Amino acid sequence: MPPRIHYAWRRESVHVARVCARMDANGRKWAQMGANGAPGAVGLKRRRPARRQWDNGSKAMTRIEAHDAARRHWLAAGCGTLALAWLGLARPARAGTIAIGASSALIVVDVQNCFMPGGTLPVNHGDEVVPVINRLAARFGCVVTTQDWHTPGHVSFASAHPGSKPFDSIKLKYGRQVLWPDHCIQGTHDAELHPDLVVAPAQLVIRKGFHPDVDSYSAFVEADRRTTTGLAGYLRARGIKTLFVAGLATDFCVAWTALDARAAGFQVYVVEDACRAIDLNGSLAAAWKQMLAHGAHRIQSADVT
Ligand SMILES: [Zn+2]
Repeated sequence: MPPRIHYAWRRESVHVARVCARMDANGRKWAQMGANGAPGAVGLKRRRPARRQWDNGSKAMTRIEAHDAARRHWLAAGCGTLALAWLGLARPARAGTIAIGASSALIVVDVQNCFMPGGTLPVNHGDEVVPVINRLAARFGCVVTTQDWHTPGHVSFASAHPGSKPFDSIKLKYGRQVLWPDHCIQGTHDAELHPDLVVAPAQLVIRKGFHPDVDSYSAFVEADRRTTTGLAGYLRARGIKTLFVAGLATDFCVAWTALDARAAGFQVYVVEDACRAIDLNGSLAAAWKQMLAHGAHRIQSADVT
């Protein structure tokens, strides 16, 4: 894999992080949040020791000794509380503990022929997400799928830039753009959803990347970081607050979708075993780092009740 792709991802990730910080409606800084989006600081309540602790018969403590003992007690209690909090944030969710509620939606990202083995831009083992997503989708009251939906000669295609080749990175008016093989052209078999994907539960299909001169990894905001797909408004209008994100590829369209979802104020669970990655020179690890840093949760489909 050409290193420049990883470089592009890093540049794009930094850009997304800046957008996230700017767009945070609540005015909080993501960087100040805990690894999984919970507030990072745990308040410790100062408690005064009971008098009997420092008035102990013949072995009575001095007031200073008692103060020190009390301080040690507070520190021990505080460290214990912090350790428990840390364990609570760091440990993976237990199986069957994350509930799908009326305000939950499943976002199925780009489960299309083009990203399957044999497609024009294949993701290794991309087809393995289909049965996992089908099982999940049947349990949601709100399901949205997305499709990469390019015009012929789209700006993201290497073939549209003479002298360039797939996986080159070029500068466009909205920023850096990785160039891809021609893929997911509107109306082609390549752009159709995988034939085994049960699409009946889906109530909305978001098609993205249809502007000839703008790409869109994210289901929410196109690559110019201004043009929205309307998805956030749709979800808010339906009272959706929590998103479960699955599909292809973890380190590109899934990650950008999850990051923009966080920026839009949604709680986000990325279902790892319902995703597959391209993983170009560390792009998968970088994507998880970004998603977790911005408050998305990394879960498995078995974690969902
Ligand atoms: Zn595309």
